[in-house]
Amino acid sequence: MREINSNKKIDYKNLEDYWISATGKTLYSKFIDRYNKKMWLVKSNKEIDTFSWSPKGPALKKGSRAVYGGQICSYPKSLDGYNNFFDKLQKSKKIKVILKEQVKVINLKKKIFKIRNKKEKFDIIVNTISPDFLLNYKFGELKFIGRDIHKIVLPVKNLLPNKVAFIYYANNEKFTRICEFKKFTKHKSNSTLVLLEFPSFNGKHYPLPLKKEIKKAQKYLKSLPDGYFSIGRAGSYRYEVDMDDSIEQALKIEEIIKDNSYDGPLPLKRWWNLN
Ligand SMILES: Cc1cc2nc3c(=O)[nH]c(=O)nc-3n(C[C@H](O)[C@H](O)[C@H](O)COP(=O)(O)OP(=O)(O)OC[C@H]3O[C@@H](n4cnc5c(N)ncnc54)[C@H](O)[C@@H]3O)c2cc1C
Repeated sequence: MREINSNKKIDYKNLEDYWISATGKTLYSKFIDRYNKKMWLVKSNKEIDTFSWSPKGPALKKGSRAVYGGQICSYPKSLDGYNNFFDKLQKSKKIKVILKEQVKVINLKKKIFKIRNKKEKFDIIVNTISPDFLLNYKFGELKFIGRDIHKIVLPVKNLLPNKVAFIYYANNEKFTRICEFKKFTKHKSNSTLVLLEFPSFNGKHYPLPLKKEIKKAQKYLKSLPDGYFSIGRAGSYRYEVDMDDSIEQALKIEEIIKDNSYDGPLPLKRWWNLN
């Protein structure tokens, strides 16, 4: 406790300096150091130099122990989550959905793409994958971390305590967290499904919270011709873009198109800010 002094100046330069100045070396080494190194697959937490994705301010607080204290966490009522919503979209006569296809850029400026061996021209493009793809990686490939997900069904009603959906592991385990899905879905069963998440380079799930990479992504975004949007976690290249943010961005695009007020690929100015 001697290391914690709530009145001292907190250092915001990088993740390691921030947490050591906020909680002291002992708590840093127990809860922050190894977890973040495995989460981001970095050698040193000093490499991590943006913070808006994690709660700041007083690191130790009274009251609720939930990380994001007052925030609401929600999940669809339907047992199959969001599937039903997307299945309905596919059946709509107003839109055409093409699945399991790779897109090839033929002419970026004219918005001509090759899909199913056919050239198609579009008026507006909404991209939700890493923007480097559109510009043929000309400034270098943007870094991402992926996940190997191990699924296990256990012959017990519940694995984690009541109301606990996730447990995060801050020691030498190779996985970052365990998630018990029943806690979200409220599914009734004598067995339970749990997922273990192992950080890897398999997939582009997590854009890195590094200023250098975010600036590179912004260079890509600024190089896109008019009429392009790039949204979502990968399209914005921001780890802190969650599902609610992706939906907000999509709704903003609707507004921009209706008002004819296009002024760049990334709607909502706050996603350009770096801190
Ligand atoms: C393990 C994990 C846990 C998460 N937990 C939460 C949570 O609890 N709450 C929350 O709000 N958010 C959570 N998120 C974030 C959330 O998943 C994203 O914010 C959201 O999925 C972004 O939606 P999107 O449609 O922009 O992109 P995505 O859902 O990533 O969709 C992009 C799609 O593009 C496809 N694709 C990629 N490259 C190509 C290509 N070259 N050609 C064709 N298709 C391609 C991908 O396969 C994918 O289906 C989590 C993310 C991860 C990885």
